[in-house]
Amino acid sequence: MKATTTLKKIGTGFREIHRLEPQLIPLTVLSSSLKAALPFVNLYFSSRIIDILSTTRDRRALILSVALALSINLFLFISSRTLENRYYMSRGLLYNKERGEIIRKLYSMDYEKLESPSFQNLLHKHQEAMDKTGSSLFRLSWMLSNWVSGGVMLIFSLVLLFPLLKISFRGGESFVESPWFAIALFAAIGIAVAIILLISRKISREWFRLSEQYMGIDKIYYYYTELISDYKTGKEIRTYQEQNLIEKDATQLVLTDGIAIQKKIAANSAKSSSLIAIIGAVIGFGIYLFIGLKGLAGLFSIGSLVCYTGSFMQVVQGVTAIANTTGQMPQVIPTMDYYFDIIHTEPTKQIGTLLPQEGPITIEFKNVSFRYPESENYALKSFSIKLENGEQLAVVGRNGSGKTTFIKLLCRLYDPQEGEILLNGVNIRNYDEKAYQKLFSVVFQDFSMFSFPLAENISVAEDYEEKRVWSCLEEAGIADDVRKMEQQLGTYLYKDVEETGVEISGGEAQKLALARALYKNAPFIVLDEPTAALDPIAEYEIYSKFNHFVGDKTAIYISHRLSSCRFCKHIAVFRQGELVQLGTHEELIQHQDGAYYELWNAQAQYYC
Ligand code: ADP
Repeated sequence: MKATTTLKKIGTGFREIHRLEPQLIPLTVLSSSLKAALPFVNLYFSSRIIDILSTTRDRRALILSVALALSINLFLFISSRTLENRYYMSRGLLYNKERGEIIRKLYSMDYEKLESPSFQNLLHKHQEAMDKTGSSLFRLSWMLSNWVSGGVMLIFSLVLLFPLLKISFRGGESFVESPWFAIALFAAIGIAVAIILLISRKISREWFRLSEQYMGIDKIYYYYTELISDYKTGKEIRTYQEQNLIEKDATQLVLTDGIAIQKKIAANSAKSSSLIAIIGAVIGFGIYLFIGLKGLAGLFSIGSLVCYTGSFMQVVQGVTAIANTTGQMPQVIPTMDYYFDIIHTEPTKQIGTLLPQEGPITIEFKNVSFRYPESENYALKSFSIKLENGEQLAVVGRNGSGKTTFIKLLCRLYDPQEGEILLNGVNIRNYDEKAYQKLFSVVFQDFSMFSFPLAENISVAEDYEEKRVWSCLEEAGIADDVRKMEQQLGTYLYKDVEETGVEISGGEAQKLALARALYKNAPFIVLDEPTAALDPIAEYEIYSKFNHFVGDKTAIYISHRLSSCRFCKHIAVFRQGELVQLGTHEELIQHQDGAYYELWNAQAQYYC
């Protein structure tokens, strides 16, 4: 990656940290500066105290030095601890805010994008980075902290080393006193820094490559461990004894391939730490030699010897930290990219600004063809149909014939690749998406109810009209069951959020989903297999109320129970993504070679 690109990305990363958690950068700078300054106070005062003890033995000066050393130590200690606590708090906030940004993005992005395997992979990688480092942006503040503390160490060291440098560059007769000695030492430090930077970059690139490999395995492991801990999937796992399969697919994979990768990662880190430690030791030896020889030549006091040695070591520590941290850019930047790739995902759907007019609704599919992303086959092909206001259409067809896809396109979860969908003669792409979706009350076949209080599940809001909620529950045939619950409308569904939540059956959930659709009271109602999970009595009750639910609304009703479709004016018969028949039951049943006749007969044969 080019240096300018890297710098730009670092800048963008810091701006984002500042936007999300403005306190983190100042806290990082302050707390790492204070932490880095602390050893120098001790170095300076130890050397002073040694000098006093070995020369004048002035009691007042001694007490003053000790008192000053203690007070400054105490001040730095307390303030650095206070700042550190606030720093950790701020780091936690960054984590939560980063998650918040991702959640907001996920909510507003195209459903099609969210569903794509490549995007799901990206999400997993980002989650991994969050789990490992506390936040993918945080690594940048960790770098800042090392740069600042390294820089502070260098500044303080150079201040303390100034007298030594003066002596070193003054020149003398022997090599020990000549400037070349100092130049050789600084050159050696410079070379060591460059080597550390290169090692760190190389190892860091390798680390990132291996981590990406590991994430592929880890994703499967995560999936399986979540399955095992989720009590909802526990039934299948036990009755089908899927433990062995899970053990083989997930655990073994992590234990063999995963561990092999982890070992490589660990060996790499060990190699880099050892190399850096060896280089540090060699430089350390050079420094001791440099200062020791100068000390032997009697160029400074014993106290100064302590101070110079300590300060030089801090120089090494500081530059090593800066070089090592900078070298880790190849893993920090791509990790940060995960976050930005998600955040910068822009909707590709054309979103219009038109607001649907109140009043009659006509929907028309004109030659619509649609393929799911990354799929080769058409789920709907050259599909045309028109629904007039107040019309009730039943949709029938075998599994996979495109019925649900038709609904998803109608609700604009996807856009067709060919053809157009019109609302009152205008392409739905021209409407404001949210306003358009407000037109539909939908019960999807694979509907979801959430671990919220029951009434909030129905009203999808914290403020709800209690009377209306009850009336919708009544219509959906579940009010009596809710009345029996201790918390009634306040009852939490499931136990994910609230321990006292209720576990509802599939049929009860379906009735609640129906009540939610009724509460929305949109002008267009779509019911995709709304009675699939209901017992025959409940199913009958729903059918008998169907006309009442729908009233004069436009409605689409998908069902495999063909007898229940007879009350719809039109029946659309789907086959392999195409609309093959459209008419009333009486018309369609006439065509003995038609798809409807085949379905009707099959049902009569198997169910009567
Ligand atoms: P139906 O509701 O009639 O059972 P669907 O509309 O759900 O049928 O599916 C139509 C076709 O599209 C099927 O072949 C199905 O496998 C495919 N399909 C459905 N959903 C997806 C998806 N999210 N991604 C890829 N293919 C899908």
